[in-house]
Amino acid sequence: MQARQVFSAYLRGPAEEHPWRYCPSCSKPLERCEDPESAMRCVDPSCRSIHFRNPVPIVAIMVVSGNRVLLCKRRAGTLNEGEWCLPCGYIEFDEDFLTAGRREVKEETGLDVAITSILSVASNFLRSDLHTLAVALLATPTGGLMQAGSDVDDVAWFTVGDPLPKLAFSADSHMIERYFATRLPGAPVDPLYSGSAS
Ligand SMILES: [Zn+2]
Repeated sequence: MQARQVFSAYLRGPAEEHPWRYCPSCSKPLERCEDPESAMRCVDPSCRSIHFRNPVPIVAIMVVSGNRVLLCKRRAGTLNEGEWCLPCGYIEFDEDFLTAGRREVKEETGLDVAITSILSVASNFLRSDLHTLAVALLATPTGGLMQAGSDVDDVAWFTVGDPLPKLAFSADSHMIERYFATRLPGAPVDPLYSGSAS
């Protein structure tokens, strides 16, 4: 099976305008930088800080038990609402990505997990104003009681091979299909943060 790490939900054109108009450091207006053109520079002579626009790092966690994978139904008002996805979310500023992965699974599904490997990394061009860089983690359940968290509408195990519900992200589809076809786990993870050392 061909490896894929770049997923685009739309036909990409020229980059959107940087969404910021005022400097988050000093509140003065920002102007477009000539070089690099994706950045904005503060007009205040004493500040002159440059604000880049970058993809957002997220974690997506494939929790597997035998031939089953854990999926969440996306809440109304979120991108691709009503469709299903791997538990996922943003990494907090003071948090490592492995701890973020365990926290997101706990918040969205109620389950405790140990991260067992780094499955892949994917660039997701979701909307012209939303690009993520997703670290996909493989995990195994270790405890907890399954129940949908406040930020998802439902959570359930699905047997791979049976029809899956409509998935919200092509990166999730690809990673589920690839993992169950190859059982390739990817790279090992640091046991200090993966939740496996107990
Ligand atoms: Zn400024």
